[in-house]
Amino acid sequence: MSKTIVHVDMDAFFAAVEVRDNPELKGKPVIIGADPLSSRGVVSTCSYEARKFGVHSAQPIAQAKKLCPHGIFLKGDMEKYTLVSKDLMVIFDEFSPLVEPLSIDEAFLDMTGCEHFYKDLYEIGVKIKARIKDKLQLTASVGIAPNKFLAKLASEKEKPDGLTLVKEPLAFLDSIPLKKMWGVGPSTYSKLISLGIEDIPSLRETPLDTLVKSLGKQGYQLYRLSRGIDNRAVEAADQNKSIGNEETFLIDIEGEKIHQALLQLTDKTARRLRKQELKCRTVTVKMRLPDFTTFEKSHTLDEATSDTDILFEEVKKLAKTYKGPFRLLGVSLSNFSSIETLNLFESEEEKSKLWETIDSLQNKGFDIKKATILDTEPGKHD
Ligand SMILES: [Mg+2]
Repeated sequence: MSKTIVHVDMDAFFAAVEVRDNPELKGKPVIIGADPLSSRGVVSTCSYEARKFGVHSAQPIAQAKKLCPHGIFLKGDMEKYTLVSKDLMVIFDEFSPLVEPLSIDEAFLDMTGCEHFYKDLYEIGVKIKARIKDKLQLTASVGIAPNKFLAKLASEKEKPDGLTLVKEPLAFLDSIPLKKMWGVGPSTYSKLISLGIEDIPSLRETPLDTLVKSLGKQGYQLYRLSRGIDNRAVEAADQNKSIGNEETFLIDIEGEKIHQALLQLTDKTARRLRKQELKCRTVTVKMRLPDFTTFEKSHTLDEATSDTDILFEEVKKLAKTYKGPFRLLGVSLSNFSSIETLNLFESEEEKSKLWETIDSLQNKGFDIKKATILDTEPGKHD
């Protein structure tokens, strides 16, 4: 049965919220990122006016200032964006019982079975966009397709304020630059180029053997994606699940030892997270004082991560309001997403098909890279 998957992504989200709330910013290059007085940090979001000057997400602020010296640089107000995001998620819930948030400003909606409420599939997008505009005075771009991979590409196709319905997956894919494909970052891209693959049609024509030889498991994924195949289900975020570690100390700890213990706990927990191919958004620190008083402090990041350094930064911030000594410390991670793990295998059968290909190539003497680390882009909110 064909599915109807909708991907909704807000346009220049943080910048758009600022322009909405400060009309004098309208039509101006607005750049959200680090402290405007320092040149540290990276651009988190920028308005489309700023993009004309070559400013983009994840660019160092210093560079953005060179490109767009008259730009309006704002630190951003995460608390406000989080509140808008909550309203956005409520709108998504009105449309679909199955919503998978990907970040603060985007989500997949599985609308399979809801189609008959609408004149046609296109109207689903029109209604969602109108509701967002009406309730939040913000624009979103929407992609509608038979699977997540295509829906996400589709929402990006006509940004900003776009609406793209994928009727013919292959023809649609052929209009997408190879670099835009999921999992094709700089290193994968240069490997593909070295194989003579410069676009999606030529990727599709490349034999599976060739792709797997050069890219391992990812070669198989690209083989399938180039055919528009992606069987991943839309999965509602499970708020109850968490991964955590805690430690009770023989002697209450204080000073530098607290730092060390938190780092070890974070590292251990982050490893478990990565082992399960997950990323998390919520970090929780548990602290127990010698008199057994216990505190728990949490923070939710705007972007899911499995990076120990980023997680440890959060842990430190959460813990710093309390002084030791501590009898127990704990770190737990929750609010998972598995979006960037690109696990495309629907069944064990599919998986074993890949391993058969890999094994047969290895038997012929090829050295197959089995690593599945995909190139991923830094967090951005386009
Ligand atoms: Mg966005």
